[in-house]
Amino acid sequence: MDYVISAPPVVAVPVAGGGMFPVRRIFCVGKNYADHVKEMGGDAKADPPVFFTKPADAVVACGAEPGRIPYPPGTSNLHYEGELVVALGAGGRQLKDRHAAGALIFGQAAGCDLTRRDLQAAAKKAGGPWDAAKAFDASAPIGLIGRIADYPPARFDGARLVTCVNDDVRQDAGLTEMIWTVPEILIALSMLFELKAGDLVFTGTPAGVGPVAPGDRVEVGIGELPALKFAIMEPA
Ligand code: MN
Repeated sequence: MDYVISAPPVVAVPVAGGGMFPVRRIFCVGKNYADHVKEMGGDAKADPPVFFTKPADAVVACGAEPGRIPYPPGTSNLHYEGELVVALGAGGRQLKDRHAAGALIFGQAAGCDLTRRDLQAAAKKAGGPWDAAKAFDASAPIGLIGRIADYPPARFDGARLVTCVNDDVRQDAGLTEMIWTVPEILIALSMLFELKAGDLVFTGTPAGVGPVAPGDRVEVGIGELPALKFAIMEPA
């Protein structure tokens, strides 16, 4: 191709057991655990889950070695949000049922939806977009992706999502506490967007979000999936 500048690289996340998963788009669900809606000052019954996106190159792939996330500019209240991430191996639109939704899933991973909480609060107050609060550089650290064949969803029935900062437990919730289940999220997304292979879906965070500072170590564990580990560094 006769590109006039060098083409951006493909963003990819390593898969447990080998191989790389190329990322197309990142969809995120907000307000998907009632206790988190409450801690943010909302009402889960009145505030249905919402969607927003991050750019693919917000991903920081964190494998066996902990990732390094520079403290982003423009905020003094960076928050972690531990989340289950679903990686799609096939696409679809207007999915009819949970079987059609489940058939799209390649694997799952532990992720973190890093958030400039101060900018998000200002955007909510002003009725403005969330992009600067959510879609900044390095805002989507993610652990190794576990293939569905190796980590079948049935084994996640009793799984808990646990986020630790410097080894202190900050979030601890069952995945069954999600307001919208994974298939329900994919069905709802597919009514608004054409889903394609390479899409990642961050499925929302439970209660217990809070700030992190340079020097902090964050770990997100979800059932048997490879844990996500990263450290917050001084600003780049
Ligand atoms: Mn989130």
